[in-house]
Amino acid sequence: MTEGHKWLQCPACKETIFWEIPIKALKGVKRFPVAVVVKHEDHYLVCYIDSHHQLADTEVAIGYTEGKAKEEK
Ligand SMILES: [Zn+2]
Repeated sequence: MTEGHKWLQCPACKETIFWEIPIKALKGVKRFPVAVVVKHEDHYLVCYIDSHHQLADTEVAIGYTEGKAKEEK
């Protein structure tokens, strides 16, 4: 298997999906596990990657929203 490519059973729809760990992005990471958001069809998964670039845990993200900083007056 190519480094960084993973098979995963989607916890939301149970389909087997193929995805790639963003190895380049992980190079600068100091703290593990780190969360990677994977979009699968109309849902999002949160995959936790440990320091050996292995999948530590998977969660289903049930919503996708944007946070906004509160403006100070
Ligand atoms: Zn899915």
